[in-house]
Amino acid sequence: MPDSLSLPARADAVIIGGGIIGAAAAFWLARAGMDVVLCEKGRIGGEQSGRNWGWVRRMGRDPSELELAARALDLWPRLERDFGVSAGFVRCGISYLCATERDMAARLAWFRKHAGEAGGGIRLLGSRETAALFPRAGAKFAGSLFSPGDGRAEPEKATRAFAKAAGREGARIVENLAVRDIETAAGCVSGVITERGPIATKRVILASGVWSRMLCERLGLRLPQLGVINSAQRTAPLPKGPEITASAGDYAFRRDRGDGYVIAHGRYSQTILTGQHIRFLRDFLPALAAGWRDLPPRAASPFQPWAARAKWKPDQVSPFERVRVLDPAPSRAILDAALNAASQDFPVFGKARVITRWAGVIDVLPDAVPVIGGAGPEGLVLATGFSGHGFGLAPAAGELAAHILMGAPPRVSPAPFAFSRLKGGGRGAGH
Ligand SMILES: Cc1cc2nc3c(=O)[nH]c(=O)nc-3n(C[C@H](O)[C@H](O)[C@H](O)COP(=O)(O)OP(=O)(O)OC[C@H]3O[C@@H](n4cnc5c(N)ncnc54)[C@H](O)[C@@H]3O)c2cc1C
Repeated sequence: MPDSLSLPARADAVIIGGGIIGAAAAFWLARAGMDVVLCEKGRIGGEQSGRNWGWVRRMGRDPSELELAARALDLWPRLERDFGVSAGFVRCGISYLCATERDMAARLAWFRKHAGEAGGGIRLLGSRETAALFPRAGAKFAGSLFSPGDGRAEPEKATRAFAKAAGREGARIVENLAVRDIETAAGCVSGVITERGPIATKRVILASGVWSRMLCERLGLRLPQLGVINSAQRTAPLPKGPEITASAGDYAFRRDRGDGYVIAHGRYSQTILTGQHIRFLRDFLPALAAGWRDLPPRAASPFQPWAARAKWKPDQVSPFERVRVLDPAPSRAILDAALNAASQDFPVFGKARVITRWAGVIDVLPDAVPVIGGAGPEGLVLATGFSGHGFGLAPAAGELAAHILMGAPPRVSPAPFAFSRLKGGGRGAGH
């Protein structure tokens, strides 16, 4: 993606962040005829969007996300055919495997309350039906929750494909271009200041992942957002492995397009204690009380670049330029444990050769539901805080952000994603 283009002096809309949310929003805006510039401080898909597990699901979601997830699952299989976005989507089905009756009871609760509304034919399967879905499993499961309509896609490919398609529709996608500030006049957005100069605009979508809080802070907006680190690994091809994407507490896997597997821990992410934890402690207390066991602390400097206070002048180099791509070290202990657990239940993984490991910083909000909506000055739309499950939502989340920005009738209700709800705490993060 070009980074040597001369910057336009003005644009109908500027998008800050070239993850899959910003790229999808750019696509929908450009397709609707808007003159869009997307500014990415590093490379398209360099952070969460190119590092995630690639799960695309409606199953297990917070009820407030079900309508958006259903719209996303309507779009994913059509992306290539109807919109030229080649994202590698496969409707392989997703299974939550349950080792014990107690695990089943937990899944049953979600199933009873939400499976009907979620759609997609989600079923609760007993031990025999689960064994039939996974004939090569070594373990006997008590049962599973199975969503045949859910699937997987290729994270980096999908993100870049959205950006490319946006470019074909006329959007200008510029890499290595950090936005240092959002400018306002009389309560309205008036432009952005990039590291290479200003762009005048009345509309901005802030889709900056874990960095979003900083630009909000500069506008006097309190976005209680924290970062947690999740690790993953890819194996060399294992042609006889399961086709269905699955998790079972201590492990989670999906096949990739080369017949290798992306394997991660089903529960554990890591938290680095930063100044933001103290600042937002009250917001996150309910989520921490419910899920702290799954967030082992990680020894690291509390001065993480994304957790710094937003104190720089627009003519100074900002933290965004100092860290073009966040690339935290993966946790060896967590990934070894995940691979071991997967191998115990699925002998095929015992033969796996790990070819690469990585990690990403997930942007978490207290209720683990994103903000997609207006906040602060008129003309600003936030699309951030996807809390570990924004990849699957992206085609529809980008569309919703674009509709809100244009004042067009949205395809799904934006109400659950309003910024104004962020006062109390809520649930934990998940994929
Ligand atoms: C290991 C891992 C596994 C996951 N698994 C799944 C999964 O299986 N399914 C799922 O649905 N979700 C999953 N997620 C979550 C998913 O990846 C994210 O919710 C989604 O990618 C968020 O996209 P985004 O565009 O909001 O953020 P990001 O991809 O983080 O993009 C934000 C971009 O903004 C840029 N940026 C920041 N500040 C500025 C600035 N000032 N100027 C210019 N650019 C800026 C950054 O460089 C970055 O590229 C996972 C995440 C991780 C880390």
